[in-house]
Amino acid sequence: MAEEAENVPVIYLHEIKREYRQGEATLTILNGAKLALWAGQSVALVAPSGSGKSTLLHIAGLLETPDDGEVYVAGTPTSQLSDIDRTQIRRSDIGFVYQSHRLLPEFTALENVMLPQMIRGLKRSETIKRSQEILAYLGLGDRITHRPAELSGGEQQRVAIARAVANAPRVLLADEPTGNLDPGTAEHVFNALMQLVRATQVAMLIATHNMELAGRMDRRVSLVDGQVVEMD
Ligand code: ADP
Ligand code: MG
Repeated sequence: MAEEAENVPVIYLHEIKREYRQGEATLTILNGAKLALWAGQSVALVAPSGSGKSTLLHIAGLLETPDDGEVYVAGTPTSQLSDIDRTQIRRSDIGFVYQSHRLLPEFTALENVMLPQMIRGLKRSETIKRSQEILAYLGLGDRITHRPAELSGGEQQRVAIARAVANAPRVLLADEPTGNLDPGTAEHVFNALMQLVRATQVAMLIATHNMELAGRMDRRVSLVDGQVVEMD
């Protein structure tokens, strides 16, 4: 099994097509896009605004369904699964980080990280312990009782990262996660993401406009005419 897992991409996007209808016109955003994401590999998705980065991430994260093509998660095709099964895979295998933190404002950092684990049915005492560990690992050990409004932008984003990895996903998808941060804070948040890839062997896909950060990742891809192209 372990050997098999190593030879199968964590996520494989096969011939993905996605169109949006705008009145009379049809916008083709993804047109046969193919991409394999591997365990332990960090991949930068660098492409202009409007080229379909968010669309690709949402499809890879099973948040949106493609018009054609298939999304494989650890070798399993997902297009024919029931909503319940897709939701199950999303909860256990996929972590998502957005440009804005999207934490629940009335909950503490600890509770925000506990929630996805509680939803999965883990015991409360276990989720507390695990959430404390993850937050401490990301340098937030002394911020666990703070609410989002009582945290800096970089701290909020690191809590969002902690929440995304709380269920030990196979893949972490991040949509311009440092886009709202100043350069120093962006550096800190980026380092947290890279540290997680090394420590947990999660696969990571980050949409970013930051070429300097992209240059420090394992691989760079772009979107050209709706297809994924390797940049180097
Ligand atoms: P990026 O993240 O690279 O900026 P997006 O994936 O957000 O690009 O969007 C790609 C294109 O698809 C854009 O032109 C956008 O306007 C269009 N688009 C995205 N979502 C929708 C939607 N729900 N309805 C219609 N057009 C959309
Ligand atoms: Mg986007």
